[in-house]
Amino acid sequence: MRIEQGDRIGIGKARDYAKDVTTELELRCPGIARIMVAGSVRRGVELVNSIDLICAVDDEVEILTVIDAFTTLSNTYTVQSHDYSSAKFLDKSGLGFSIKVVRSQSFGGALVHATGSVAHVEKLKEIAADLGSTLSPDGLFDLESGSAIDVRDEQNVFECLGLNFVPPEMREDTGELESAVEHDFPSIISLNDIRGDLHCHTDWSDGRFPMDEMVEAAQSRGLEYLAITDHSPSATVANGLSPDRLNLHNHTVRTIGSASTGIDLLTGTEMDIKPDGSLDYSDEVLSDLDIVIASIHSAMDQDQAIMTNRVISAMQSPHVDVICHLTARLLERRAPVMMDVESVFEAAVLTGTVMEINCSPDRLDLKADHVRRAVELGVIFAINTDSHRTHQFDNLRFGVQTAIRGWVEKKQVVNALTFHELRRFLNLPKSDRYEFMKSRG
Ligand SMILES: [Zn+2]
Ligand SMILES: [Zn+2]
Repeated sequence: MRIEQGDRIGIGKARDYAKDVTTELELRCPGIARIMVAGSVRRGVELVNSIDLICAVDDEVEILTVIDAFTTLSNTYTVQSHDYSSAKFLDKSGLGFSIKVVRSQSFGGALVHATGSVAHVEKLKEIAADLGSTLSPDGLFDLESGSAIDVRDEQNVFECLGLNFVPPEMREDTGELESAVEHDFPSIISLNDIRGDLHCHTDWSDGRFPMDEMVEAAQSRGLEYLAITDHSPSATVANGLSPDRLNLHNHTVRTIGSASTGIDLLTGTEMDIKPDGSLDYSDEVLSDLDIVIASIHSAMDQDQAIMTNRVISAMQSPHVDVICHLTARLLERRAPVMMDVESVFEAAVLTGTVMEINCSPDRLDLKADHVRRAVELGVIFAINTDSHRTHQFDNLRFGVQTAIRGWVEKKQVVNALTFHELRRFLNLPKSDRYEFMKSRG
């Protein structure tokens, strides 16, 4: 597929391309000390149109070697520009790649400059100028002498400027620098905070791998717990589980769980919310599960009032713990359903229901803007991969990036709880759950 210049690709693909290019460059240029993707990819923007790299070398003569290699990579198609320390090219599909090469002592400054949005970087430059320094694509410099300030890491740059460190994903000029100046910065969630995943599928429904392989894949990525949430009967195309099969499924989850060391399993379902808002299993069946996550998978053309009420009536159930991928969008493939997200978030708080941030790079649902609004309303989140294949547990990063873009704090994320705490949370009546999260501060 040829993408026209200015077209955008999904963050998942962009990360893959960035990895391919950095791997090839590092192989060809042993003098590279550090190389990182910057720009919108690093900020976790859902659709991007360029892949921007910042590279550090210890020896000045290596700069030219890197630029030469970059302009002759296996996917270099049209070189658009290059000078002594930077270059840009398009690949055959029209996707843009750029690189900036600096000495190691300037890496932090160059990375900060190349990562933030234009508006964010402009504000940073003003802050730097007020302090007698200048931030440029080449790094951070003393304004008067013109000499480079030693800022090997971004942390050094923010310290030099008297600011709290701002996570890359938040560098959009939506209030983050004001908070960083005031040193009134929220404790934002990070990838390392996530302890478990509350949404995945196995070959019992539409997943591609047996349950034990999914469990092993989750564990090998350091997850401490995993909910196995195959589909419910209405999801016929996804081989949804009848109550009898679900019973057997629960038994299998418990068997594999008790045989596993180092990872705890939860029985569960990703249950369809039917078009009239009713649930796909009886209360009796649901009360036997450790966790119930619920989703819209059908009748996606309902008007906004009906769709919104459909989700809110599911939230009224004492058994529905989490609402998944609220708008059901598929990036660049399926538009979001009509949904009054504001009312849904208010209902989440009122009913004690958790809202999912789905990590699949095809979904990223909730999207960052919705997450930010939900944070303002006090919503509690689960950041779930919805893995159907073992490698998809790696998608966790995209959901966490989306959460960071929405300013989610660690204390607002249920799967940042320990397994013990999560069990306590799930054993509480829904009406007490938000209070439980608040009480942990
Ligand atoms: Zn789903
Ligand atoms: Zn799912």
